[in-house]
Amino acid sequence: MNAEDDSIKLVKAVSAGKVAIDGKCSKCTKSICCNSINQKIPTPKSKEDFDHLAWQVSHENINIFKDADGWFLHIKANCMHLLPGGVCGIYETRPWVCREYSNDFCEYDESIADASEYFFAEPEQLHKYCRKRFKKWDKRFELYE
Ligand code: SF4
Ligand code: SF4
Repeated sequence: MNAEDDSIKLVKAVSAGKVAIDGKCSKCTKSICCNSINQKIPTPKSKEDFDHLAWQVSHENINIFKDADGWFLHIKANCMHLLPGGVCGIYETRPWVCREYSNDFCEYDESIADASEYFFAEPEQLHKYCRKRFKKWDKRFELYE
């Protein structure tokens, strides 16, 4: 039996109630943790660094956040292995990052936006932050003239 057959078998088993998905995960109908990735980035310091972040957050599905572990790109993108019913299609060979993710206190309990010190979903939010951080933020391009 190939991996695809195994996945279909698993989906059917879950649908039939033969395989239990953890209680909290079974209530998490959108399988939140499988719908985005977080990529750590160097701590931004200069106006140029933040100007670059403003460009990045101007793109669809790209957010930026800072928490106790540093600065991250938050990229909203569904994992292609997520099957109906919240089943992982590659459960037996899923990556380490998925194996190590615990649902003890996860995105179902508190969103990344709420858990972060800063969360920027729009460039204007970042510009507002930068105006407080840098006196001449809105005149930063004069550096290049
Ligand atoms: S670990 Fe948390 S976010 Fe992921 S599916 Fe389970 S309840 Fe949802
Ligand atoms: S590989 Fe499986 S557990 Fe990991 S994000 Fe994709 S669907 Fe979720």
